Parts: sequence; structure tokens; C-alpha cells
Amino acid sequence: MDQQAILLLGYLIGSITFIVGLKMLSHPDSARRGNLVAAVGMIIAIFVTIFLYRDHNGNALGNYGWIFGGLIVGTLAGTLIAKRVQMTAMPEMVSLFNGMGGACAMLISIVEHHHNPDAAIGMKVVIVLGMIIGTVSFTGSMIAWGKLAGKIKDRAIPAGQIINFLLFGGLIVSAVMVIGGYNDTPALFYTILALAATYGILFVMPIGGADMPVVISLLNSFTGVAAAFGGFLYDNPVMLTGGILVGSAGTILTILMCNAMNRSLKNVLIGSFGGGAKGGTAAGDKEQGAYKEISLNDTAVLMAYAQKVMIIPGYGLAVAQAQHACHELEKVLAEKDVEVLYGIHPVAGRMPGHMNVLLAEADVPYEKLLEMEDANDQMSTTNVVMVIGANDVVNPAALDDPGSPIYGMPILEVEKAEHVIVNKRSMKPGYAGIENELFFRPKTSMLFGDAKKVLQDLVSELKQM
Ligand code: NDP
Repeated sequence: MDQQAILLLGYLIGSITFIVGLKMLSHPDSARRGNLVAAVGMIIAIFVTIFLYRDHNGNALGNYGWIFGGLIVGTLAGTLIAKRVQMTAMPEMVSLFNGMGGACAMLISIVEHHHNPDAAIGMKVVIVLGMIIGTVSFTGSMIAWGKLAGKIKDRAIPAGQIINFLLFGGLIVSAVMVIGGYNDTPALFYTILALAATYGILFVMPIGGADMPVVISLLNSFTGVAAAFGGFLYDNPVMLTGGILVGSAGTILTILMCNAMNRSLKNVLIGSFGGGAKGGTAAGDKEQGAYKEISLNDTAVLMAYAQKVMIIPGYGLAVAQAQHACHELEKVLAEKDVEVLYGIHPVAGRMPGHMNVLLAEADVPYEKLLEMEDANDQMSTTNVVMVIGANDVVNPAALDDPGSPIYGMPILEVEKAEHVIVNKRSMKPGYAGIENELFFRPKTSMLFGDAKKVLQDLVSELKQM
């Protein structure tokens, strides 16, 4: 088999493993293996490119010092960051890594523009569009990362939409000038770069913090498209496949997340949901009635004599690292013939699938995790709902307060159950920064304390009964 055939075979294996790996990622049981399969495919694709690729003149890549230097630095940095990252900071890391992908696409376009001053129009389209999309993704992802890390505050930009519209118009005109060869100077090319970078910043800056996952997913699809342009540029089928998969997966995820919040993408991009007390009923704005507390002992009694208990995990469960204690509680209750299920809201926690990953880590059987619709169907036959470190995802304002920033978002309708017990540390609001009337409703009892400690104490209490 000649080198070219081995190269193509490597690309084919790479492409197939990406597709198989992506498919396996869609189920928690196979997700880890899926990740591994796709990673092996990526390693094959990288190494066949480095050693077997030949340009039109038959030259090998060369520059091995730079290539392996970059590979070693990237591998070490990526491994260290991924090993150290807390589960709750995962969206930040995804955003950062996505930004790096955008930056790569941007740099590829800059280098290729420099190398091919007389490129044909088709190649110029690929170079310029790849640069614009990659740059928007890069700067936008950096802002999203800053917001999630709490380093950048949500900021409405005066006349922001008009400025963005003008920037967008400027980008199109300049791109046409460069691509059409009317003014293909480095100055205009770098002006496009600057316009795209500014557009990425201004596009993400005003969007509410709670909408960042949707934005990250959208930017992720941009990076995929930019990488696919790179695939065209280098006539590299595996880069093209990878880019298209990321682009389409990011787009589908964006749509699914918008559906989960019952909002359109337009509303997410120019709306004002989340990230703090902007509009709606901000915490403390409204006089609330009294709330009632419940003791550990009473909680244990209520649960032990229930037929069905539904646990609603939220961000607080992840912060407290209470997933193992939660699984313990489930097992103790099962020994007492209590059926225990989990109601999982699609945006509970801080990233899509956050609760599923967390509970899978504690070996909670996957069949016990109910998606929101199924959980809501079972709510009226549930004796006790235990909300653990969740807030926005059970906030009834989403159903009955049209003035609320989260109005329209489907929630877990816990009040349909017989008793609702809410565990959190205080009466402070959740991520969207708004009051939760559920805590003051007649069926609700508050069980204050750190989720892990409370669950551990509850387990001991139940064991003694
Ligand atoms: P929330 O952020 O609304 O509420 C979490 C609650 O957990 C807080 O009210 C807090 O109350 C409590 N808490 C914090 N630490 C602990 C602890 N150690 N023990 C017990 N309780 C604790 O979480 P939800 O999961 O309900 O909602 C997720 C929110 O995040 C939504 O607004 C969603 O849109 C947004 N979001 C979702 C993303 C996703 O993709 N899933 C990504 C980014 C944002 P207290 O301080 O009183 O303890």
C-alpha cells in the first residue's frame, strides 16, 4: 500500500471514529468509551497527517520541532486543566477550549492569506469566511468564559444592536472587497480581523450569564464551521468531517437548549434572562410570607413512610459534592421499600447533562433518572419531593408570573406532589437572581444546611429507624 493510500485510510478511520464516538456520547453508559474512541481517531488523523501528508510538489510537512513542541505543550496544558477542573467549572473550560479552536481557524486563515496572495476566488472565500467565523468564535468564547468565571459582568451596550448591525455590514462589505479582489490589501484584511473580533465581543457582552450555555453551544457550532473551512483549504477530509460534526452537533444542541427553556434563539440573543436582577422579580423586591422549617427527624419519618420519593438535584448538589450521599439515601430508602426516582431538569446545574454526569459518577442507575416531562407525569403520585440544591428549575414564577425573567421556561412541577422538602443553605436566590415563591407555599418545608452534611445526617437518621 502506498503512502497516499495509508494516509486516506487513516483519514477514513479518523472520520468513522468521530461519528461512532459522537453517537456513543449520547448515552451515559457509553459516553466515556465514545470519548476514547473519538480521541483515538483524532490521534490517528494527527499522526498520519504529520508523517504521510505530501503537498502538490511532493514535500513532507517538515517543521517537526515546532509541530511536536506544540503537541507536547498542548497535551500537557490540556491534561492538567482537564484533571484539575471542578465539575461546576466545566462550562468555563468548554468555552475556553472552544475559543482556542476558533483562534486556530483564525490563525490558519491569516497564514494562508499570507502564503497565497494570488489565491483563486474560491480559496479566498474559504480563507476570509474561515477567519471571520473563527475570530467571532474566539473573542465571543473568551467573553463567555469571563462571564462564567465571574470576571466579566453582564453589560448592556448603548445602541448595541445598531453597532452590531453596522459591524456586520462592515464585515460583509470588506469581505466582498477582499474576495472580489477590489481591494485585497493586508490593511483591509486585518481590518476584517479587527471587525470580527469586535463583533464577537459585542455580540456576547450583553447576553445574560444564565444564557451562556446556549451561547457557548452556538459559538461551538461556529468553531466547527470554521474548522470545516480549514478542511477545504487543506483538502483534508478528516478536518472537514470533524468540523461538520462539531458544527451540526453544536447547532442541534443550541436548538435543544432553547426548546428546554421554551425560548427562541433570537430571544436568548437579544433577551435579558438571567445573570442577575435585571427586570422581573428580583430577590428581595417583593414581600413574601413566612416559610416553615422541617427537622431532620421529621424528614426521615416522612420519607421512610412514603411509597414514592422524587429527588430533584440542582447546582447546590454539585457544589456540595453530595452525589454519593444522595445515592446512599436512595439505597437506604430502597431497603425500606420506598421507590426513589430522580427528576432531572435539562438546565439543572451549570451545563447540559450536568446532573446526569454527576449522578452517574455516584453509580446511580440510569433508569432512575427521569427527564422533566416524565418526572412531571409522576409528580401527582409522589409522596415526597426532595429538592436538593435546586432553585430556578423548580421556580413556579416560570409558570405563573409573566413579569418574571424565567417566565415560559418549563419547570419541574413539584407542587403536584404531596409534600415538598427543599434543602439549601439559606433563603438566597439561585442563578437567575430571583425570588422563589415555592419556598413560601403551604406544601413546602425548608431543610437548611449544606447538601452533603444534611444527606449524610438523614441517612444515619433513617438507618436508626
Ligand atoms: P440554581 O443556581 O438556581 O440554585 C442552586 C441553589 O443551590 C442555590 O439557591 C443555593 O442556595 C443552593 N446551594 C448552593 N450551594 C449549596 C450547598 N452546598 N448545599 C445546599 N444547597 C446549596 O440551580 P438550579 O440547578 O435550580 O438551576 C440552574 C440555573 O443555572 C438555571 O437558572 C439555569 O438556567 C442556569 N444555568 C444552567 C446551565 C446548564 O446548562 N445547565 C449553565 C449555566 C447556567 P443557598 O445559597 O441558599 O444554599
